[in-house]
Amino acid sequence: MLGDIIIIGGGASGLAAAVSAKLAVPSADVIVCERLDRVGKKILSTGNGRCNLSNRSISPENYHGSVDAAAFIGAAPPAEDFFADMGVLVTSDEAGRIYPHSNAASTVLNALRMKLSSLGVREECGFEVRGIENVKGGYTVVSADGRRLSARRIIAAAGGCAAPSAGTDGSLMRLFRDRGYSTAKVFPAVAPLRVDPGDVKGLKGIRAKCRITAYSGEKKLRSEAGEIQFTENSLSGICVFNMAYLFGQYGPALTISADLAPDMGSRELTSYLRGIAGQRSGEKLEELLTGMFQKNLAVYLVKRAFRRPLTDNISALGKDSSEVLTGLIKDCRFSITGAAPWQSAQSTLGGISASEITPQLASKRDKGIYFCGEILDTAGDCGGYNLQWAWSSGYIAGKNCALSLKG
Ligand SMILES: Cc1cc2nc3c(=O)[nH]c(=O)nc-3n(C[C@H](O)[C@H](O)[C@H](O)COP(=O)(O)OP(=O)(O)OC[C@H]3O[C@@H](n4cnc5c(N)ncnc54)[C@H](O)[C@@H]3O)c2cc1C
Repeated sequence: MLGDIIIIGGGASGLAAAVSAKLAVPSADVIVCERLDRVGKKILSTGNGRCNLSNRSISPENYHGSVDAAAFIGAAPPAEDFFADMGVLVTSDEAGRIYPHSNAASTVLNALRMKLSSLGVREECGFEVRGIENVKGGYTVVSADGRRLSARRIIAAAGGCAAPSAGTDGSLMRLFRDRGYSTAKVFPAVAPLRVDPGDVKGLKGIRAKCRITAYSGEKKLRSEAGEIQFTENSLSGICVFNMAYLFGQYGPALTISADLAPDMGSRELTSYLRGIAGQRSGEKLEELLTGMFQKNLAVYLVKRAFRRPLTDNISALGKDSSEVLTGLIKDCRFSITGAAPWQSAQSTLGGISASEITPQLASKRDKGIYFCGEILDTAGDCGGYNLQWAWSSGYIAGKNCALSLKG
């Protein structure tokens, strides 16, 4: 017996697709197949439990990959309107990040589930789709434990590879790749970037206000102000997260430069450094930047700039030492050796390529299959852009999929 629509994946995009499919065609029967024991697990951990569900300013620059996410988003209702219909009140902060008024991600998931229930959407949890078979008039999905469900339409909403503990391991992307789909290689996005531990020795736990700029060789790729955070082998913080996709594009040619005195020009900084070097000429080198940076960062910079014992006197420095230190503080470079593991990533660059989908998010290869969310080759910046893509693409895929039942 063929049902109408099977949605593979009960995450943000799959649940949005279920709502929009039922709103478009209330009589359609819609089943959400979710491999975990409940739907929406990842939504609960978004935005540190607050669910940064969208952003007031969405532009093409916020998305990376072959799919033009911003254009699709422009064709769907804003998240605010989508959720207003479910009674979710939202608020935004000074950076335009939109959160539920409750500041609790559970509010968003509860409202979504209540809507799904009132619309009559069926949830099949513990159903991990391992295979999709073509049958007359539609498809049969086969679960890991051999259960089978059939429908005229499929919406693939199984996410990417980021945060595998929330159910996503890229298995459905691979399934479509094996069906002949063109897929872009996957890389962690919205994630820390790895560096050689020797390059950040002593900096673990340090956070510093800065402007970071990503380079490939001397080609400037992207720049953003924020707070950089150091671990024993990686750079972290939102401004770094937003550069992570660049490792997918540039690999080890990627370097990150931190301007650790973003509010001071080079001349002003050099003159400040000359002043304190003069005042502290009798002190040890390790005290040169006391008062400007946290102790470990101050020591790190002096060591890296002068490569001499920290017990030397400041007076022993050469004439150009303030310029040398300014150069390092304004352009503290780190070579990127790799992307962080999937566990620490929030999104996935790569996946099913734009060339495989229509403007309705339908497959060009398999009639009646639709795609939405992170399974497609796009990754948004940190700040609500990934969830906005999930809601919007889910809305578009769900609506068009349901309407196609009538054709
Ligand atoms: C810790 C964390 C915090 C985040 N915070 C934010 C934020 O505040 N704002 C923001 O915009 N974005 C955030 N993101 C990113 C955002 O959550 C994702 O981009 C978004 O959830 C992707 O939606 P999706 O529906 O494509 O995939 P997912 O939400 O990942 O859902 C996919 C679902 O499919 C299921 N599934 C996978 N394979 C199968 C299968 N074979 N069979 C059946 N089911 C399957 C999974 O279990 C999962 O439930 C965050 C991500 C993480 C990990």
